[in-house]
Amino acid sequence: MDGRILMLDDEIKTISVIGLGYVGTVTSVCFAEMGYKVICVDIDRDKIELINEGKSPIFEPEIPELIKKTLNQNRLVATTDAPRAVTNSEVTFITVGTPIGEGKIDLTAIRNASELVGKGLASKNAYHVVVIKSTVIPGTTERDVIPLIEECSGKSEGVEFGVCVNPEFLREGAAVYDFRNPDRIIIGSRNKRAGDALEHIFRGFNSTIKRTDIRTAEMIKYANNAFLATKVSFINEIANICKEFGVDVNEVAEGIGLDFRISPHFLRAGPGFGGSCFPKDMQALISASKSVGYNPILLTSVLEVNRKQPLKIIELTKELLGNLNEKNIAVLGLSFKPNTDDMREAPSLKIIPALIEEKAKVTVYDPEAINNAKKIFGEKINYASNALDALKEADCLIIVTEWDEFKKLPLTEIKSVMRNPFIVDGRRILNPEVVTRAGFKYKGIGWKD
Ligand code: NAD
Repeated sequence: MDGRILMLDDEIKTISVIGLGYVGTVTSVCFAEMGYKVICVDIDRDKIELINEGKSPIFEPEIPELIKKTLNQNRLVATTDAPRAVTNSEVTFITVGTPIGEGKIDLTAIRNASELVGKGLASKNAYHVVVIKSTVIPGTTERDVIPLIEECSGKSEGVEFGVCVNPEFLREGAAVYDFRNPDRIIIGSRNKRAGDALEHIFRGFNSTIKRTDIRTAEMIKYANNAFLATKVSFINEIANICKEFGVDVNEVAEGIGLDFRISPHFLRAGPGFGGSCFPKDMQALISASKSVGYNPILLTSVLEVNRKQPLKIIELTKELLGNLNEKNIAVLGLSFKPNTDDMREAPSLKIIPALIEEKAKVTVYDPEAINNAKKIFGEKINYASNALDALKEADCLIIVTEWDEFKKLPLTEIKSVMRNPFIVDGRRILNPEVVTRAGFKYKGIGWKD
């Protein structure tokens, strides 16, 4: 749906958003584009300055243009003053991070944000809706968020304010599209007024709205990510078995994906899942399950398959080169997926250290994530400004992220600059037959050698 065709509703004119990472930034600018006045908040002054200067704090398609546009329309303003933003709005979305700390979910930011919301509500007279968009373990909103807001505001949930849980399902790299075209909108609430108000905000979206209680909404997000992570580890395990049987996993994935009960999505074998969500949400769910006396053996295995999967790339490289000592390895792709500079939990973070451990000389290239990689690896590796530069004198090319530009590598040209024509295709984006015909030796995850 096109957000611009939505009309403002009568009551809700101003929305505040606390926490300007991927979720908060996208939520803020997309609501501003819909016509709401949005006051967005972060504790990070640099992010606030960037937004107010019309620059994006995250790498995400469409966001820079939307920030400029909504700032010019006076619909977006960024501040570090969360209580004031809450007082001056009718609805507050909490979108702060919920990282893993000591093996379980770290709720520090959620608790801080809840206190700030409470302080803002203390000086407000009208009804207010607080929406938890951050991913939190079932029970968190009722056990932590609501009591903290009540304590800091002196007000009661269900009377002067209401709380909803509205989990976010956006994909980094396609976040604005996903905001405008949600598969479904989950609204968890325990009082009708708050749930109705949030449903009203989303009324113009062409999407199913599912109303639940608060805990169910919290659990839906974890179940969703756990299922997708399971699908990835499933196809990766099948890929590893396929390789041993001389079967191409891509054909198997296509074959099973035609079964409507399975669907073709999330069946691409590769070096494992990464990013800011799947690994941490799986860990948080496993740890929370154990804390209530249930040992989730399937979910634990999903993480275990994923822990080992990046090292399959090293195995394939050794099959081509034997010893990696002093070998020049070109790694193409660093971000956990294309169209983002996000390297959180990316497979490259396991593959590159393993190559260094094998004493290989590593040169990397990524269209967007080089600066992040420099902060992580410093001078331990070399950085190239394009794919061809990375491949000069390389003994092997390893594709780690499926950026579009790597699907169209000029094979003749790269063969002429490489020392050895070896390719390890971690994402199965090249056609093995074409590559072999061009004179390369090819290895790929789940490819029948
Ligand atoms: P992030 O870590 O990128 O950003 C969080 C932001 O919150 C940071 O800018 C931080 O400075 C700010 N913050 C922390 N404490 C604050 C406070 N007290 N007041 C104001 N700002 C504060 O997080 P993210 O990736 O946007 O994720 C946010 C939540 O949404 C997490 O729970 C995550 O699991 C969930 N989620 C993320 C995605 C995704 O693709 N990134 C998708 C769906 C759901």
